Amino acid sequence: MVDTSNHTPLSWEEITNNLDGVKKQGIRQFIYQYKKHKDRRNDPLYWGDEIEYMIVKIDDEEKTTKLCLKAKDVLETLNKRNIGNRTPIWTPEFGAYMVESIPERPYSDLLYSISEVELSMKERRKELTSVLEEDEIPFTLPSYPRLGVGCFAVPSTERNPNNVTSKPWFSPDDVIYKGRQRTTSIHQNIKDRKGGKIEILIPVYQDIKTKLAFPAVIKTKCKMEQSNDNSIFMEGLVFGAGCCGLQTTFQMDNLDEARFLYDQLVNICPIMLALSAASPVHRGYLSDIDTRWPVLSQSFDDRTDEEKGQKPLKNDRFRIQKSRWSSVETYICPEHSQYNNTDIVYDKDSYEELKNEGLDEALSKHIAYLFIRDPLFLCSETLDQDEILDIQHLENINSTNWQTLRLKLPICNTSTGWRVEFRPMEIQLSDFENAAYAVFVFLVTRIVIAYRLNFVIPISKVDENMSAASKRDAVLEEKFYFRRNSFSDKSITEIKITKPGQLKTKDGNDFCRMTIDEIINGNVEFPGLIPLIKTYLESKCEDTDEETNHLTNSYLKLISDRASGAEPTTANFIRNFVTTHPYYQQDSIVSDIINHELLKACAKKSNGGIK
Ligand code: ADP
Ligand code: MG
Ligand code: MG
Ligand code: MG
Ligand code: MG
Repeated sequence: MVDTSNHTPLSWEEITNNLDGVKKQGIRQFIYQYKKHKDRRNDPLYWGDEIEYMIVKIDDEEKTTKLCLKAKDVLETLNKRNIGNRTPIWTPEFGAYMVESIPERPYSDLLYSISEVELSMKERRKELTSVLEEDEIPFTLPSYPRLGVGCFAVPSTERNPNNVTSKPWFSPDDVIYKGRQRTTSIHQNIKDRKGGKIEILIPVYQDIKTKLAFPAVIKTKCKMEQSNDNSIFMEGLVFGAGCCGLQTTFQMDNLDEARFLYDQLVNICPIMLALSAASPVHRGYLSDIDTRWPVLSQSFDDRTDEEKGQKPLKNDRFRIQKSRWSSVETYICPEHSQYNNTDIVYDKDSYEELKNEGLDEALSKHIAYLFIRDPLFLCSETLDQDEILDIQHLENINSTNWQTLRLKLPICNTSTGWRVEFRPMEIQLSDFENAAYAVFVFLVTRIVIAYRLNFVIPISKVDENMSAASKRDAVLEEKFYFRRNSFSDKSITEIKITKPGQLKTKDGNDFCRMTIDEIINGNVEFPGLIPLIKTYLESKCEDTDEETNHLTNSYLKLISDRASGAEPTTANFIRNFVTTHPYYQQDSIVSDIINHELLKACAKKSNGGIK
């Protein structure tokens, strides 16, 4: 990415005045890149993870925990240490208490590389820990339970007695990372674009003594009298953007493979979201959801009332069904177009231009959908761009369409080719778990490609799966639409499936509802992702060693046990910890003292892992 630290960000009004030109250039940039790279082939399957951490200070005397707003200093120290060495890459995130790391270089597609993943994650955690104080811990936890409640953060200048301006109290907006113009601009421009505050409502977990989690005075202030009393109300981008995720990116041999993989992963996203659920507590309350996703979706929702359909369209161009942070809007392979059964809004002019330049309908719609969104960060220095030399207007739109998957473009004159980013997963407490989830998705990509599996179902059903995935204990309580017959002719010969009776679709439907246990571990209609992975691994046994096999099996066991319920999800662990804590009042409130002990229990799990 271009360094914009010395650039001059435009205000929302200025951006508005430049939208047409910027979008036109962005589309031209895509067309140029597409033509340049559409026939690019033989890129190796590199892949990698992104881990986000939150830095928390644990005070055992006061029995409190606080977010440490020291990401800027921490990153400076880490990046200074890194000069000249081959070390992980550390970057800022939305919270001033967050940092992100990626491995020093991507992993390869060899099965041996599986053993590098957890080692790299451990190395990174160690490195981050080494630049923190004794009582500060890097947590890999999606949502900080008491974000926005009372005195929930400490500034890095706290120990400076001369700092008279330091307040004892933080509003959620204060804890946004200020060291990067992109972050502060996006924050401001979401508010300016939608014409109001960033307001989030999620259902509270209704226990026997739960009182109103959403005070009437706030309701009146926000003109939300109609909304459910049993909601947790949050105001501010950071409630969503300040959550930590686990993302993985896979490079494909060529564009067709990348598009194929993208479509096959669309319906794996809700499954992995439910299976990785780890955030049941929001703004100090136990909620009725187990993931950060609905919070993120609302926090990044920059649609105006007209776009949301709450007012007649007058100034805006489109009715838009989804937030910028949401499940993917379309399948992108032409052969899956019939499964795009929702009304796709897209920019007609961009679409026509893309079609005229020779792109097929499916990819043109995908790109024209991305371009219904406005850029949320623009600088005057880079406003006018070249469609051949630059890609910033394009990247700016692509990287702020926060969908469950992202098709990433090749980078000219580098070994970086067409990539697919898998974005739904919640971060887990330990490196062992994070490695297990990352490796599992990697192995799913391997079986999808090797056996030409087909997981495509109508996209409206994927949306339903996404809503189900965040519900409390979804992994055990919900059923998910999944394809019955996932096999092509290729898979049938390669994995020797000889029970055609099982492969026929019943009552004309390609899909039915299954539990996550059935999807992961198998049932009579679908062999299950893990049995398919095991078959694949057996066929590749000469490509690994005993130790890697053992490790891989321990990862698969964790995923299998989470799916069957033999091992609780992190969300379930947290929920259980809170509701069985002696100080818990059955009122859904996660007090300071419960939070302190909860985080200590989480820290223990992070270090020990679950084996
Ligand atoms: P972003 O924040 O835009 O998603 P990051 O740079 O944070 O991107 O992460 C990129 C991820 O992709 C990292 O895990 C990295 O190891 C991985 N990666 C880097 N180069 C390649 C490549 N050529 N192919 C696949 N993955 C790659
Ligand atoms: Mg990243
Ligand atoms: Mg990130
Ligand atoms: Mg990022
Ligand atoms: Mg990413």
